[in-house]
Amino acid sequence: NTFAEIDLGETLNQNIKRCKYVKPTPVQRYAIPISLAGRDLMACAQTGSGKTAAFCFPIISGIMREPFVQRPRVGRTAYPLALILSPTRELSCQIHDEAKKFSYQTGVKVVVAYGGAPINQQLRELERGVDILVATPGRLVDLLERARVSLQMIRYLALDEADRMLDMGFEPQIRKIVEQMDMPPPGMRQTLLFSATFPKEIQRLASDFLSSYVFLAV
Ligand code: AMP
Repeated sequence: NTFAEIDLGETLNQNIKRCKYVKPTPVQRYAIPISLAGRDLMACAQTGSGKTAAFCFPIISGIMREPFVQRPRVGRTAYPLALILSPTRELSCQIHDEAKKFSYQTGVKVVVAYGGAPINQQLRELERGVDILVATPGRLVDLLERARVSLQMIRYLALDEADRMLDMGFEPQIRKIVEQMDMPPPGMRQTLLFSATFPKEIQRLASDFLSSYVFLAV
């Protein structure tokens, strides 16, 4: 079992080699083909399982397959195609760093936005264009309220460490965010939900946000 056997495209495969990933981890081995097939996914996976690549690879590959999506030009609003939500600044920055390595020379632009830091630099980055936005829920709600981000064009939504986000009290923000994505025709958005645990609250999120999803526990 190798990455080359998974149909991710040549550029992405080169980037994977550059990262010195030789063999997919178990979560990658199952989650990537499921995601590439366009299915929604609920994955129970721990930190260190390689889950970041498991949701980044299919998103980058998907965006590369439809590279010239026309985005509206309305004021200074950014229209990302993919959103990765994560609970903390540290995790968001880690995901951003990895996603940037994975998307090297693909033309896919990754931007990160998190709270507890000045917003101006993040606004400038967003204005330069964004395909994949990595964000913490509170800062994203702020950006949505300022109309500096629109979720109208979102094709891919990944929620990382969803149980931690709920523990931190982000459920109202997450629901507000996902509500704004329900404007494009249903079925156009693919959702990947990652959580270390699978309690009632996560099961409810899964049934609210995912459509006929595949459940994966590794
Ligand atoms: P994660 O669970 O996504 O935080 O990944 C944990 C660590 O494993 C990170 O440092 C990754 O860069 C690394 N990693 C992820 N997938 C692989 C792989 N297939 N081969 C080797 N290292 C990996």
